[in-house]
Amino acid sequence: MDSEFLVVESMSHSSPSVSPVSGDTQRRSPPVNAARAVADPAAKAPPREAIIGLHQVTKAYPGGSLALDGVDLSVGRGDFIFITGPSGSGKSTLLKLLYGEERANAGTITVDGYAVGELRGDRLAELRRRIGIVFQDYKLIPRRTVAENVAFSLWAQGLRRAEIQRRLGPALKMVGLPHKANSFPDELSGGEQQRVSIARAIVGTPPILLADEPTGNLDGNNSLQVIKILQKLNGIGITVIVTTHDEALLRHFAYPVVRLVNGKLFVPQSYAQPGSTDRRDRDKTSPQTRV
Ligand code: ADP
Repeated sequence: MDSEFLVVESMSHSSPSVSPVSGDTQRRSPPVNAARAVADPAAKAPPREAIIGLHQVTKAYPGGSLALDGVDLSVGRGDFIFITGPSGSGKSTLLKLLYGEERANAGTITVDGYAVGELRGDRLAELRRRIGIVFQDYKLIPRRTVAENVAFSLWAQGLRRAEIQRRLGPALKMVGLPHKANSFPDELSGGEQQRVSIARAIVGTPPILLADEPTGNLDGNNSLQVIKILQKLNGIGITVIVTTHDEALLRHFAYPVVRLVNGKLFVPQSYAQPGSTDRRDRDKTSPQTRV
């Protein structure tokens, strides 16, 4: 594993402990806490730290469309979850609220210790550097090479050429595309373009990765490849949230699935765990109740 990406791992303070919700050939080894519980049934797993928290979040767009309706969600640091639901149920809106592209009308949102609703300017930019984003339609710059596309955000941040080069290699390696560094997007397949967009999302080593229908334009095989890359990133500590309405993917991977229906979010009981969503709460000893 590339040392660059171990930096991300060291940012993660808890081992991922995902509750499987369906049979899966991709199932990961049991979390450390679970292993301890088997050895000592009396031992209680400590509450895991939440990296994302939404409390009673409502979003109505101008014109009256209610996209999210009283949404509660807590995502543990290092988790991987799927958000599913029919088209128009609010999946993209939920992700946009997390990175401050849209603002909630009511409720509170905390991401990696930031109260998102209150962020403006530099503080919002700071939060966005903590979040990698992958879109269904890749959003690559057509007249730039793969390397330039991946490096773009680092240039924009003013990083030096040597530092950019240092980060570029591991990011492209992570998605299996070092040999395509000098290709242009239209010389790549859809699956490869999506992998470039994943490399772009993680080149700044963010602790959180949001992927909005990342497999929406891909066939079954490429979809699997993309989710496996996200799984690999999750394995080094990145918290991953993926929206999809592909039931086959949900069945294939043993990750918690939360469902949106008409803006209301349904969280499986197995995923409701204690945790704190607020940096100020992290040092307190009493556990927060997870919604
Ligand atoms: P999904 O990602 O599940 O398809 P969206 O979050 O895109 O759902 O949309 C949820 C609802 O909000 C839909 O009714 C959609 O029409 C509406 N919506 C989304 N974006 C806007 C917008 N910019 N202006 C007005 N309505 C919007």
